[in-house]
Amino acid sequence: MRAYDIIKKKRDGQKLSDEEIRFFINGYTVGEIPDYQAAALCMAIYFRGMDGAETLSLTLAMRDSGEITDLSGVGGVRVDKHSTGGVGDKTSLVVAPIVASLGLTVAKMSGRGLGHTGGTVDKLESIPGFCVDMPRSEFERIANQTKIAIVGQSAELAPADKLLYALRDVTATVDSIPLIASSIMSKKLAANDDCIVLDVKTGSGSFMKTEEKSRELAKTMVEIGKGAGKKTVALITDMDKPLGYAIGNSLEVIEAIETLKGNGPADLQELCIALAAEMLLLADKGDERECREMAERALSDGSALAKFKEMVAAQGGDASVADDTSRLPTAPYSLDVMSERDGYISEVDTEGYGLCALALGAGRNKKEDKIDLSAGIILKRKTGDRVSRGEVIATLYSSDAHRCESVAKRLLSYTAISDAPPTPSAQLIDVVR
Ligand code: URA
Repeated sequence: MRAYDIIKKKRDGQKLSDEEIRFFINGYTVGEIPDYQAAALCMAIYFRGMDGAETLSLTLAMRDSGEITDLSGVGGVRVDKHSTGGVGDKTSLVVAPIVASLGLTVAKMSGRGLGHTGGTVDKLESIPGFCVDMPRSEFERIANQTKIAIVGQSAELAPADKLLYALRDVTATVDSIPLIASSIMSKKLAANDDCIVLDVKTGSGSFMKTEEKSRELAKTMVEIGKGAGKKTVALITDMDKPLGYAIGNSLEVIEAIETLKGNGPADLQELCIALAAEMLLLADKGDERECREMAERALSDGSALAKFKEMVAAQGGDASVADDTSRLPTAPYSLDVMSERDGYISEVDTEGYGLCALALGAGRNKKEDKIDLSAGIILKRKTGDRVSRGEVIATLYSSDAHRCESVAKRLLSYTAISDAPPTPSAQLIDVVR
């Protein structure tokens, strides 16, 4: 078998066999197939696509390229939740404590920020002392003891995806459904949980900009999950506007804590409850209504907040941040951005907002960049809100005053203000079971 023939076959629109896909992924992982051939195959897949069986083979080959987590030592029903990436998406910080407080086990490996999107691990690192990198035995001990532990992705997990993702990033082959689906699901399957709830974002702040594409991605990932014998469900949710009002690491932790106290923004609270209810449902904790009510109660009676504090303390963090959020990193500089006219915010470029947060220091331009944990944006007005000329629509935060100055105009350019209000949109668009 030759890599050349596999590339040619896909280039010509033919279906690849499981054996061919495994040969290619294994060869690429051990360095026998070079980057240029892998890039050529990615581009061929980008243009020619893959059917369900090929996508499943690709996912399983990537899953098997590294270690498969054995969490058999961790008790309880293990559930995971994964977002395809968004702006202001701090749901994991709320959803994981909700379901853990209700008896499910969340032993979760999360990612860092990617492009314009934020990552749970970066957010958690804004809590002083919080450790996201620990030996497997310690991860298991904490997960067993508290039912919740969130750490960074282990390097041994799906290494083929690590290599391919970096390659796709620089060869314009990220936004391909079989490639995204296999990338996400290979990591989820290698993490080896019992139930997987996927939050597939759609709209200007997501990797999939149209509902049609997001739906296709959701269906593909649910099919892969089922094909691999895991209970999987996908929620298609709105990312045409940032989630909540906070974008940036410590700012998002503060908003997550407020949500755990029952004071969160309506869109964020609604999505957290929907995701938690799906996790409880997959774990057979009750019917749809009961699971929703359990999730709501965990927020209103303080048990999810208590579980969050327990997790922070168990991972070496300062749990008193939950009572006093001023203990989190605070930016020395801030700048208000004012509306230039009267009207309604009719639309925002959410990816643009994410890039503004990144430019303030909340994300990385290069892998080795150090994040400014205090940097970001607090939105004062969102899509659909009425604004007057001179009214503050957002406040920018950074450790670098120049960054605030340079981002202010840019944020305005991503904000459309018109005379008529836009049609309101739902947060939860659909559920793919
Ligand atoms: N997240 C991933 O892990 N992989 C992708 O391809 C896109 C988003």
